Amino acid sequence: MPFLKDAVTLVKEPQKLPVAPLSWFPPSLFAAFNVTLLVFLSGLFFGFPCRWLVQNGEWAFAMVTGPLFTLTFCSLVWLNFSDPGILHRGSTDEDPMTVHVVCVNQRAFRLEWCAKCCFHRPPRTYHCPWCNICVEDFDHHCKWVNNCIGHRNFRLFMLLVLSLCLYSGALLVSCLMFLIRASHLPFSVDKAMAILVAVPAAGFLIPLFLLLLIQVISVSSAERSFESKCRYHQGYNPFDQGFPKNWYLTMCAPLGPKYMSEVVCLQRPVGTEWIRENRPPSPPRSPEHRTPGPPNPQPQPPHTGGKGPPGSGEAAFSRR
Ligand SMILES: [Zn+2]
Ligand SMILES: [Zn+2]
Repeated sequence: MPFLKDAVTLVKEPQKLPVAPLSWFPPSLFAAFNVTLLVFLSGLFFGFPCRWLVQNGEWAFAMVTGPLFTLTFCSLVWLNFSDPGILHRGSTDEDPMTVHVVCVNQRAFRLEWCAKCCFHRPPRTYHCPWCNICVEDFDHHCKWVNNCIGHRNFRLFMLLVLSLCLYSGALLVSCLMFLIRASHLPFSVDKAMAILVAVPAAGFLIPLFLLLLIQVISVSSAERSFESKCRYHQGYNPFDQGFPKNWYLTMCAPLGPKYMSEVVCLQRPVGTEWIRENRPPSPPRSPEHRTPGPPNPQPQPPHTGGKGPPGSGEAAFSRR
């Protein structure tokens, strides 16, 4: 296949990795604060304006906001601890000079070498500098939950953004309705709490709606936030398979096997299953050495494993 020798890197990594690992404490504290803020504001809402509405026979507001709060809270906590699609670390025997090529929609792309994890990353897999892990189908690192958003938790992320949008809107409408219904009454603690809840709900609503809109557009065109500043080869996105299939692959297709195993926690080197180039062993290299590739690389067989295309979450099937 003539195009294999012209294989190019799929997407250049736009961010340089930090030299030293970042401290985990401040980001974790911020994520915990966000959960606390949600519970605190919800407590004020259900304890004051919502209670008044229920006592005056307005059950509909509680019946809408109650399930939405449960959904938002569960998805937020779940996303904090979810596995984004961590790929296990490679072997120290892995050779960064080995060239791996995959075909995506009839285009050949050379896989990038991750100097931190010591393996050739499958398509759309990137190293998160905040978590120091390689994540399959990496979208971005969400600082609000201090977790990567990748192949295994992207649906949960979308659910969280959607539920937050609906919940903020429901809180705002409920508080406004309470203020209208109780307008004939003197100013009270209930009214003060309704204003205290309505202001942040209104402030979050528009950014959340814009975020949801951006994510919907990204899913429709099979784009990822991390790659948004990069240019695909000749402006062509090889992962775009059309609107319906993009949504199916992102939101409905089976997730495939899970690679976040105990080897990740133990940081124990394990043997990778890549098919390696049959050539004499090269001298030891610095782990920071990246892969320019030999002058005439012999490409590996094209991506043949898995039921879906590379980047659909089944890219790891190309290991065999
Ligand atoms: Zn990595
Ligand atoms: Zn991360």
